Order: sequence, then C-alpha cells, then structure tokens
Amino acid sequence: MLDTTTRNIKFLPGVGEQRATLLNRELKIYSLYDLLYYFPYRYVDRSRLFMVNELTGNMPYVQLCGEIRSFEEMGEGAGRRIVAHFTDGTGFVDLVWFRGLKYLKDRYKIGTSYLVFGKPSLFNGRVNIAHPDIDVAEALQLSAMGLQPYYNTTEKMKRAGLNSQAMAKLMSNLFTLLGENVADETLSPDIIKKHNLIPLAEALRIIHFPRNPQELREAQYRLKFEELFYIQLSILHYSKDRMQKYVGHRFTKVGEMFNRFYSENLPFELTSAQKRVVKEIRRDVNSNHQMNRLLQGDVGSGKTLVALLSMLLAKDNGYQACLMAPTEILAEQHTSTLRRMLGGLPVRVELLTGSTKAKERPPLLEALANGDIDILVSTHAVLEDNVQFNNLGLVVIDEQHRFGVVQRAKMWAKNNIPPHILVMTATPIPRTLAMTLYGDLDVSVIDELPPGRKPISTMHIFRNRSEGLYEFMHKQIKEGRQVYVVYPLISESEKLDLKNLEDGYKQICNIFCDYSVSKLHGKMKPKEKEEQMRRFASGETQILVSTTVIEVGVDVPNATVMVIENAERFGLSQLHQLRGRVGRGGNQSYCMLVTDYKLSEDTRKRMEIMTGSNDGFEIAEADLKLRGPGDIEGTQQSGIAFDLKIANLARDEQLLQYVRNVARELIEADPQCNNPLYKVVWERLRTIKRNNNWNWGAIS
Ligand code: ADP
Ligand code: MG
Repeated sequence: MLDTTTRNIKFLPGVGEQRATLLNRELKIYSLYDLLYYFPYRYVDRSRLFMVNELTGNMPYVQLCGEIRSFEEMGEGAGRRIVAHFTDGTGFVDLVWFRGLKYLKDRYKIGTSYLVFGKPSLFNGRVNIAHPDIDVAEALQLSAMGLQPYYNTTEKMKRAGLNSQAMAKLMSNLFTLLGENVADETLSPDIIKKHNLIPLAEALRIIHFPRNPQELREAQYRLKFEELFYIQLSILHYSKDRMQKYVGHRFTKVGEMFNRFYSENLPFELTSAQKRVVKEIRRDVNSNHQMNRLLQGDVGSGKTLVALLSMLLAKDNGYQACLMAPTEILAEQHTSTLRRMLGGLPVRVELLTGSTKAKERPPLLEALANGDIDILVSTHAVLEDNVQFNNLGLVVIDEQHRFGVVQRAKMWAKNNIPPHILVMTATPIPRTLAMTLYGDLDVSVIDELPPGRKPISTMHIFRNRSEGLYEFMHKQIKEGRQVYVVYPLISESEKLDLKNLEDGYKQICNIFCDYSVSKLHGKMKPKEKEEQMRRFASGETQILVSTTVIEVGVDVPNATVMVIENAERFGLSQLHQLRGRVGRGGNQSYCMLVTDYKLSEDTRKRMEIMTGSNDGFEIAEADLKLRGPGDIEGTQQSGIAFDLKIANLARDEQLLQYVRNVARELIEADPQCNNPLYKVVWERLRTIKRNNNWNWGAIS
C-alpha cells in the first residue's frame, strides 16, 4: 500500500514543482497525507442561492449569482482596497479586496454572470463581502453540485489558479490515485463499534465529497472523535506515567507558622472558595505524589493568600518555597505584600530579579543554598543554573501564561525530588481549553470574590465625548480616589504607541494641572518604573498613565477608575485583566472603555460583552467563541501546539469530555499498553507524538 505520509505532493497528477512549492509554502502541505487531511472549511448547499436584498451583516457564508457593474479603488495606505459593485437585480453589495488589486480587474469582467461565495459583514453601514470566492456561473451546474466543499486558499495561491475549486480537483485526483487504499484504520474495532463510528477511509472520502448532510455529519463526528481522543489519550497517558515516576515531598503537618499566621496575622476570614482550595492543596502535598496544580481565580479573588498559606506549609515541614512572578514590578510587590502580611513571624522572604545588584547576589545565593531563606520571590532570574536551593519543596508560579512548559521543567530540576508546583492564573482559561492544554494538571478554582466587593461598573465611551470622562475623573479624584489611564503598546507599532502615550500624558497633565501624574511604560529603566509605581501606590500621584505593564498583579485598592484608551485594540481577556486592577477596595469602581466612533462588528461585540459581564469565565468563554483557541493568550506560550484540523474547542466541548472518558477507560483496560486488541491505538499515539513533536516528554 502506498505510504501517503512519505509520498511527496509534487508527484500527484495536477501538482508538479510549481504548485508543490506553493502548497508547501502557503499551506504546509508536503505529502499526500497532508493534502488528505486538508479539510474543507465550509460546505455550501450550492442548490441554494441568496438574494442581495436578503443580506445582513451577521450571516454565515452565502452564495449569490449576479454580475459586477463597476470597480472602484478606495482608501490610502494599509486601507487601500478595491471594491467591485455587484448586483443580482435585487440590490447592490460591495465585493472588497485588500490585495491583488491589479490582477482582479484583469480577471473578473464587468457584465459576466458570476457565482460569488463569501461571508457578508457590515462596514460603514453597508454590507460587503471581503475576499470572496468567484466562479463563472455557467461553468457550474447548480442543482448537480449538491454539497460543495470550500477549501481555504491564500491570495498567492488564487493568483496562480489554485483556488478552492482547483483544490477540490486535486482531492479528486488524490482519491483516484489511492483507490481502495485511502488510509489504514486508526481506531480499534471495539471502539469503532461501541461508539458507532464510521471507518476512517470512508470518513475521509465523505469529508471531501459529501453527498448529503447526514453522511457529512457522520464523517465529521468520526474525525473529530479521533482527533480529540488522541489528544486526551496522550495527556492522560503521560500524566499517569508521571504519577508513577515521581514521588513527592510529603508535607505531613500543619505547623507553627501556618497556625500562627492563620490565627494571629490573617486580617480577614478566608472565603469558602479559598478554604476549599487550601484543603485541596494540603491533600496533594501530603499524598506522596508530586503536586501539579493549576489554580484559576478571577482577578482579585485572593490567590496570593492561598500561595502564602501553601508556602507556610512548606516552611513548617522543613522546605523552602519559591514564588515566581512574570515581571519585576510584580515580584517586588509580592515581596512587600508577603513581608507585610507575615508581620513579625520568623519567615525570611527575599527578592531575586534580573536587577538584583551584583554585590547583593553572592550573599543572597548563599543564604538560599544553605537554607536561610524560606521564601524566595523571583522572576525568570531564578531559572539560571547558579541559583541553588537547599531544599526546595514548593514552587508557586503566578500568572502562568508567561511561563511555559519548559520553564516549569527547569524548576523541577532544581531539586532531587521535584518540588510541588502550584500554577496560579487570573486569565480564566475556559474549562475545555484547560482540559486540553493542561490535562496533566489538576485544576482548582476560586469562584468567589472576597465579601464586600462592589461589581465594577463598566462603560463604553466614544473618544469625541471625552469631556464627560474628564469631569468624572475630576470628581473621583476630589473624593480621594486614584485613576489609571492605559494605552495599548504593541511591538509592531511601538513608536507610534509610545507617542500616543506621551501625548496622552501631556494632555492629562494639562487638564489635571492641580494634581500629580505618574507615567509608566516598558521602555523605562527598572529603577524609574519602580519609583513611578511606588509614587502611585503610596498615593503621592493621583493618576497613572501607563501601557499595559500594569496588566498583571499590581494592587492599589484606592484606585477606582480604569480608563482604557483605544480599547478596540485589546482582546477581551486583556480588557478584563486591566479592569481587575480596580474594584479592590470597598469603594464603587469604574472601567471606561474609550474607542473610536467607527467600530467593526467584532469590536462592538467585545465592548458589549465587557459592559455586560464582570465574570472572567464568562468573558473567557465568549473570547474563545469570538477568536478561536489559537489566539487565546497563553496557548502559544504553553509549549504545546495543537493543530486542530476539524474539532473546535469552543463548539465541541461535549464531545471532548466524552472522548476523555473513552481514553480513560482505555488506559484502565490496558494499563501496560500491550493488549493486541489496542495495538493499533498505541501505535497511532506514538506516530502522532513523533510527527507533531508534542512536547509532553520535555517535562519528565
Ligand atoms: P489575585 O487573585 O488577583 O492575585 P490578590 O491575592 O491580589 O488577588 O487579592 C486581592 C485583594 O483581596 C488583596 O488586597 C487581598 O488582601 C484581598 N483579599 C484576599 N482574600 C481576602 C478575603 N478572604 N477577604 C477579604 N479580602 C481578601
Ligand atoms: Mg495576583
């Protein structure tokens, strides 16, 4: 049988050198197998035509039949585009392209009857379709086509004639070439039977050439099942391995420091969610296995306290602990918070960052190595090899998304017996995603805020209405409150962004000349940053104008107003993080999202979600639905790349949980992975891991 994984795509009839290069570069398709697994992104019932006057801004993909009346070039610079005015007699719709301007006019003729396929959206009050697929209408027989697959192709490919239709033709060549031997079955017979799956080869044929929606659904189900199943099997198999391999330190007792802190120093009652999580952690660290726990809690839910209690457990059992923060500002703040909370207790807390002076380093490292330091607060600086602990028992990683799997692994290596790991994140990762990405971590959730918090009131304001905003800020400051004003800063447009920030700073200084204003951005020296932050935290300044360096962690309870400039440029989870900087004291707090008047459909949605909800999990779910998991902050840095070809984490949550159980049952039924019945499954797992370079092994 032909091995599709090794057969170069250029040998497929209809491909050749040139197209092969395009397929390689544009879609990473190198082998026949890659092509076989390049699935259509849509199917259109091509017997269904929409009329232009039916179109609205939020419809799924539609098919229209009509003609182009004229072309028009519009806009400047990055906004330069070509618009084709298209009509079917019931109205006009704009077809829009941002690239390939010259080529379009040559290719598409005015007055020819075309079938247009694309997704309508609303821009400046008009419906348009950006980068549509266009075919000559008479070349296609509507009724005979039934379900037509659509393949994503790039602009470069389209220009070389490799559009969706051409891809479909290649698929058909591929299936002719493969004949009966499309693919070997990858699931065991009992799994196929028990879960009513269709055979793989059949699913692959149908996914490319469905005859009707019913069989298409069956094929999609089979392929999604398989995709998610192997991810879950991989994770569960790996974590079982780890459980067996790694004995953990046992923290058997709750000792003096924990108890004294709890009864003497704790200024408030723990929330019941905090109590539950502390209990879960205590059970883990006393279990003889190494703990690997992900603690999710919305901003302000009191994760720091849980971290401190866990670190005191370590201390009471004769171990050191390390708290890792993503930024120096945050590490500094944690250090002072911990010292303040610990009061007179004999627990030594020290700070080590990249800016720790060369002079101070040796004594610090020595105290760490001989066990004099109980809690080290640090950044990436702790990962360096010369930082040695005496007996590291617990590592707490705050704001996880900046630390990937590799960093976690480095901390494991700091001790003979790897330390317990507690990862804390305020980026509430939706459950589906957490299960997929961190399937090897147990998850705890603080789903409750400390009592007395008033929900933050969020408003969306257009930039041309900002006088009202300034008035409001004045009022709050007069009442003794403080205000954050945040500007976006992304590296691609750094210069311009910094200018925006400087301009904004000057303007604020002018308007609020009776008050003091701090300024903070990532390009400033650490010392300077620290000083600006200190002035704001101590109340010397009333307003902090900043880039998103304040995104994580800082705690200034007296700040009640968060103004986010250019809010359209932030993702939902970032907006939520920023908003979480206020509402930490007892006073009513506000978040003001300032945007342009002109907004895309997407941005409008995001603003609506933000003004409508204070719940981080709800927002994260919405984010997942709007953007898709690939964009979620943290998934790139997690070190685990999932290239999901067909399953969708936002939509297939139920199936994911279902297959997780199937995977678990399999592991229980065949713990040694040697039952001939499941041979095909274990072999497939090995192949997938090898091909995808999944990095599970890097940790162990
Ligand atoms: P985050 O989860 O965002 O890291 P923090 O740990 O910074 O939250 O806690 C936010 C604020 O809530 C801090 O000022 C902290 O002292 C306070 N806090 C934490 N737990 C409680 C509690 N149980 N009751 C009252 N206030 C609390
Ligand atoms: Mg925190």
